[in-house]
Amino acid sequence: MDKKLAAGNWKMNGLDADLAGFAALPNGHTEVLICPPTTLIGVLRSTLPEYIKIGAQDCHSEVSGAYTGDVSAHMLRTAGASHVILGHSERRDAHGESDYQVKEKTKAAHDAGLVAIVCVGETLAERDAGETLDVIRMSLAGSLPDGASSDNTIIAYEPVWAIGTGRTPTFEEIAEVHTCIADLLQARFGERFRILYGGSMKPENAADISSLPFVDGGLIGGASLSPESFGAIAKAIS
Ligand code: PEP
Repeated sequence: MDKKLAAGNWKMNGLDADLAGFAALPNGHTEVLICPPTTLIGVLRSTLPEYIKIGAQDCHSEVSGAYTGDVSAHMLRTAGASHVILGHSERRDAHGESDYQVKEKTKAAHDAGLVAIVCVGETLAERDAGETLDVIRMSLAGSLPDGASSDNTIIAYEPVWAIGTGRTPTFEEIAEVHTCIADLLQARFGERFRILYGGSMKPENAADISSLPFVDGGLIGGASLSPESFGAIAKAIS
């Protein structure tokens, strides 16, 4: 298995980020990835050292065409991205993205040579109804194309109710879902994929969460916006 991965999702933030501060992120046992808004991909790629990977937060499923406002996976790759987050719950919610669309985008990312970070996770209502593992199973089945492999795809388990709320599932709940995801991927693709946890990860909980079974790092939102807290998480999860 590869090194653990600390992946920062800046969402629609970062214009005033301390870019120089991010150049000092730890270069050690953890792989570090920053996914800024599209406009900052080129700037970060040319400013930050090579060991810090740069990713995007979404892509279109087509290579080019009449899709005003959209950006293709090839364009992101050309701009300096190596990864792309797909199917984040904020896009599934605010843009109505379906599993099928996520699957098409994932194929496009693979065709462009990007590693897709495919997000899945249950809402609070689904967890309370005992549907978490079914939701994960359906979402993974629908969002991953047959060409997915451990080389071109990373899964992020992100309980929707834990994103930006300061709440996290119990360690048992995280371990249960990650084990389920690992088993499903093993059964369908015959290999072990990297699986990140996302949802209110911070320096104080990163070490404990990332030491759980089948947790290979974190997808970090709010706490990735400062080099101090993101760097502390990167160190903690190694
Ligand atoms: C996210 O949006 O992917 C995320 C995990 O956010 P936060 O860390 O702020 O909960």
